[in-house]
Amino acid sequence: MTSQTCEKIKVFGRIRPSKENNVQGVVAIDGSTIVINLGSEPRKFQFDGIYGEDSLQDEVFEGAASRIVNGTLQGYNGTIFAYGQTGSGKTHTMIGPSISFDNHSGIIPRGLQLLFEELNKKANSMPGNFTSNVSISFVEIYNENIFDLFVMSNDKLKIGQGSDGNVVVKGASEVFVKDLNDAMEVVMKGWESRRVAETAMNRSSSRSHALLMIKIHTVESHGEISTSRSAFLNMVDLAGSERVSQSKVEGERLKETANINKSLHNLTLVIRELSEDKKNGFVPFRNSVLTHILKDSLGGNARTAVMINLHPDKIYYSETLSTLNFSAEVR
Ligand code: ADP
Ligand code: MG
Repeated sequence: MTSQTCEKIKVFGRIRPSKENNVQGVVAIDGSTIVINLGSEPRKFQFDGIYGEDSLQDEVFEGAASRIVNGTLQGYNGTIFAYGQTGSGKTHTMIGPSISFDNHSGIIPRGLQLLFEELNKKANSMPGNFTSNVSISFVEIYNENIFDLFVMSNDKLKIGQGSDGNVVVKGASEVFVKDLNDAMEVVMKGWESRRVAETAMNRSSSRSHALLMIKIHTVESHGEISTSRSAFLNMVDLAGSERVSQSKVEGERLKETANINKSLHNLTLVIRELSEDKKNGFVPFRNSVLTHILKDSLGGNARTAVMINLHPDKIYYSETLSTLNFSAEVR
């Protein structure tokens, strides 16, 4: 590892459009704070950037994600999480209405586009002296089990160690992609199997984390010296954070809820521990599958952002407050 250190994790807020016409929402933006107010004492939460109901997908990408994508070409691992209750706009933010290129495209298609643009620019600026390799893995974490989204199967994958001691998901497909179109096709395929697994395999997508891992390897030569760099770009559509009351559910739902609570809680602990820059502090990466897989990306040379997705409507007040409390814990 080089002398570069882990930088502070950035926490962004995004408020989706209201569903209640002509009803005043319970959240408002005041500079770099989100204020939540339901008659009682208003409460304020600080963010590194806030995107309102009318925010555009390109603004969100430019402000919250582009720096992380660019960082991967300098050797920084990048991770972007979308957090929020089901229906708050996580998938809209990460993917958009469909996996395609238009004004509505989310962070994943825009991120891939920027990545290949930058790789092509570099290759053109030093003909013959720059090569790159990009590969994609796409897994789903459901009930603390890992499933490959490139293989339609209910086989559970295990976490193991790679040749250089790094964390790997053993047996997860790693698909090499040569350009943007190739990459989009591969991501689309994984996303589609997530949808199919929902009915075919009974893996509820709002109750699972989707984890897209893009590995970027570059080699740059200057005369006799060549520099090789590797980084991961991870984009994570988290399971819905809603606090399903444990007394009201049983069987599979109870298990799902317990696993999501555990996983999101451990994510909070890991991010807090990393943010506090305690050099010898214990970071509980291995206490949940999500943080274990992301251990190397979050803990090393890293740029990390969390997008907190919020509903402005009054009926979601209590979930929204709980989501904002999460944002305060990780920031
Ligand atoms: P989640 O993934 O958190 O469950 P979705 O992204 O699926 O939520 O959003 C739920 C619905 O709201 C979708 O129909 C989506 O298109 C819409 N939506 C969410 N955020 C926005 C936004 N910022 N602008 C327009 N529509 C949005
Ligand atoms: Mg979703």
